[in-house]
Amino acid sequence: MIAVDTYSDAVRRTVHDLVIANRILADKGVLDAYGHVSARHPENPSRFFQSVSLAPELVTVDDIAEFDLDGVPLSESRPAYKERFIHSSLYAARPDFSCIVHAHTESILPFTLTDIPLRPVVHDASAMGAFVPVWDIRDDFGENTDLLVTSPKIGDSLAVKLGTNRAVLMRGHGFAAGAGTVSGVVRMCVYMARNAEVLTTVLLLGRTPIDLSSGEIAARDLFDPMSAASRRSWDYWAAQVGFGDLL
Ligand SMILES: [Zn+2]
Repeated sequence: MIAVDTYSDAVRRTVHDLVIANRILADKGVLDAYGHVSARHPENPSRFFQSVSLAPELVTVDDIAEFDLDGVPLSESRPAYKERFIHSSLYAARPDFSCIVHAHTESILPFTLTDIPLRPVVHDASAMGAFVPVWDIRDDFGENTDLLVTSPKIGDSLAVKLGTNRAVLMRGHGFAAGAGTVSGVVRMCVYMARNAEVLTTVLLLGRTPIDLSSGEIAARDLFDPMSAASRRSWDYWAAQVGFGDLL
């Protein structure tokens, strides 16, 4: 637990957004009892915030802990998520990321197992980017792992596969994704999951999906993430999970 009342307004805002993000991602089925979301410290880029080891649906402000970029908890004795190294390694590799999600979302899992690429086909999913690589833990760590990212070394391998993309799939496991704002990452993940459902339906219909073009994705990237239109889903979803008072 961090003494959020003793922090600046910027930190308090980040922690509150992180709690809201946990609840929305659980409500939308992106996260279940496992998986997690984190936010970079707004005033110290070598730190990030994340809940202790709890199901996202149960996370409150009192459960948020602070970590360094080695994944070491700085002020918390309760157990941390085993896979927090996804977050520490990706924050170290991607200074442009201020929020990261790791999830095991069912609609996305098939695309971690086949050579059919997950790509945006519906406009709301454009933020995931045109290309999402697939990381296979076997490539660097062999066939006897538990598939989890439980060390900085494994996290760094995942970060290499992510490269300059916005999301990376994890074979037989899930995905990790990041962006510059908490609300933007939550929105991206919700629509990435819905996009996977639509894409699967098209493929089951036996038809060839029409991908968004690079020009369409670039045009949508120009949207201001803090505009009223972009905030609409965040405000609505926060109210839906009963956390509108934290906005
Ligand atoms: Zn996982």
